[in-house]
Amino acid sequence: MYYRSEAGYVRAADDINIELERGQTLGLVGESGSGKTTIARSIIRLLPDNAEVVDGSIDFDGTDITELTDRELRNQIRWQEVSMIPQNAMNGFDPVYTVGQQIVQVIRHHEDGVSKAEAKDRARSLFDELGIDPDRVDDYPHQFSGGMAQRAMIALALCLEPRLILADEPTTALDVVIQDRILDTIKEMQAEYDSAMILITHDISVVSETSDRIAVCYGGRIVEQADAATIIKNPRHPYTLGLRNAFPDIADSDEDLISIPGTPPELVDPGEGCRFAPRCPFAEDECWEVTPEPEEYGDGHIVECHRADEADELRSLAAKRET
Ligand code: ATP
Repeated sequence: MYYRSEAGYVRAADDINIELERGQTLGLVGESGSGKTTIARSIIRLLPDNAEVVDGSIDFDGTDITELTDRELRNQIRWQEVSMIPQNAMNGFDPVYTVGQQIVQVIRHHEDGVSKAEAKDRARSLFDELGIDPDRVDDYPHQFSGGMAQRAMIALALCLEPRLILADEPTTALDVVIQDRILDTIKEMQAEYDSAMILITHDISVVSETSDRIAVCYGGRIVEQADAATIIKNPRHPYTLGLRNAFPDIADSDEDLISIPGTPPELVDPGEGCRFAPRCPFAEDECWEVTPEPEEYGDGHIVECHRADEADELRSLAAKRET
């Protein structure tokens, strides 16, 4: 999925290949601008006009949803099958309707034969489940605090029990104390509905606790993906090592200290070579010239790095550089 711009295509989601099972959580992690939101929004096609699906497919339970028309996607997939909790809840609500009216509208649009009263009862019990006073369904979005609006957004996003939840930095705008509670609530509802979830965050420590698998985004590509324990304990990509060390509470030894100075790459016409090479302490000639292919290191551990075979050596090299 690329964006058209005057300078050329912004290659925001390139060669992305991810798989997710029912009930599983995939953590999508990476710096700002690495393409996380683009990947999630591509799935439900909530994209700006300059976005273009250049190639590829999205298999949702046997249906390639890139083949659906906008209308089919809206009526069959969005909300009831795949639903998004956006970064900032306030932007997700329409300020002129009460929160309850918006939930009622979504339920009745997608489910035939549900009366207004029944839909409102569902909104009230969702509020109750999420720890909001049910009477507040009659409030307008601006009457909610940030934490409460985010909970109300979860109610709206999950009111049809979607099979896939896209949670885009669902707690970043909130107080640290509330963040954990809201994430727990999302996880509880995910478990109740047996939904799959893609959880987007720049904070690898968040996904280390909540995800089954982690995919690391860099420069519009997924540079490494594996089960969460492997990404945290045995990463092979130098960027993953650096990302871990940006959140020292999960780096369990000082063996891996690599910092990642520099800025993310230009995504217009990035050319051949590894997109991380300009910031990589281990880049060799090949890294600058040839785009690394994904290589598998067992159990779905996939890495795009020319030096992934030497991961142990690179880690001790990094430790020496630091001392
Ligand atoms: P963040 O954490 O800041 O949301 P992200 O990892 O989700 O970042 P994206 O928002 O997907 O990253 O952006 C990926 C790339 O696409 C960035 O280089 C961004 O500048 C570019 N981009 C995003 N939206 C557009 C757009 N409408 N037109 C052109 N380029 C865009």
